[in-house]
Amino acid sequence: MADRWPLLEVRGATKRFGGLVAVDGADLTVAEGSITALIGPNGSGKTTLFNLVTGAMRADAGEIWFGGQRIDRLPPWTRGHLGLGRTFQVTRLFKSMTVLQNVVAPMPDARWRTMLAGAVSGHEADRARELLGFVGLSRFADQPAGSLSYGQQKLVELAQVLMMEPRLILLDEPAGGVNPSLVGRLCDVVRGLNEQGVTFLVVEHNVPMVLELCDPVVVFSRGKPIACGPPSLIRSDPVVLDAYLGE
Ligand code: ADP
Repeated sequence: MADRWPLLEVRGATKRFGGLVAVDGADLTVAEGSITALIGPNGSGKTTLFNLVTGAMRADAGEIWFGGQRIDRLPPWTRGHLGLGRTFQVTRLFKSMTVLQNVVAPMPDARWRTMLAGAVSGHEADRARELLGFVGLSRFADQPAGSLSYGQQKLVELAQVLMMEPRLILLDEPAGGVNPSLVGRLCDVVRGLNEQGVTFLVVEHNVPMVLELCDPVVVFSRGKPIACGPPSLIRSDPVVLDAYLGE
């Protein structure tokens, strides 16, 4: 892992909310081609770090580099066009629109076009149907997104992110609230995408899933990493075991 090219580099990132330091001079490197995990207790700053990387929030200090380019002053949509995608802890689909319409929604102007026309066609629709096939949801393409289970909606959101052809996808709690049978499918989809060259940074509370899927694992505490290594090392690190894995 160490000899892979860094795709994402966070250097000394800091974010304060009033007197609270949510991210405290954090350094983090995500190697190209890796599935890197970010774990740690609630309130340790993982989601805030995601927000700094995607541009939803501006850091008070530090630098963020993506693909060799400094991005921390760029707006979120520019970061998206550079190849940075993310999913959310709670899905943000348009529940009354069809699954297919949701998948094309992030494409420029697509949302308004599909709302007006009510149907999706052309190259975008072909690509969206292909991605729905990839995540195993082809048969739901024309159903309202709100009629799918929560885990299926998370897969729709992943297909939506894939429309932008990202190089790095940040997954925020992908297994949260998801039926265990779909967690397995989600892991297979992530592995399949990773084999095609997509890099992942995953925040997840499901530690067995993280240890199975991700390498390396970064452990966050009080706004910065306290340990980083392969799952085998993290599993046996006494500090990590004691504080975070509850073993
Ligand atoms: P995690 O994702 O590890 O659970 P968060 O990044 O959500 O942690 O939160 C880190 C700390 O920052 C917490 O104490 C949280 O209450 C605080 N925090 C997060 N977002 C905000 C916000 N928008 N305003 C004020 N405090 C926030």
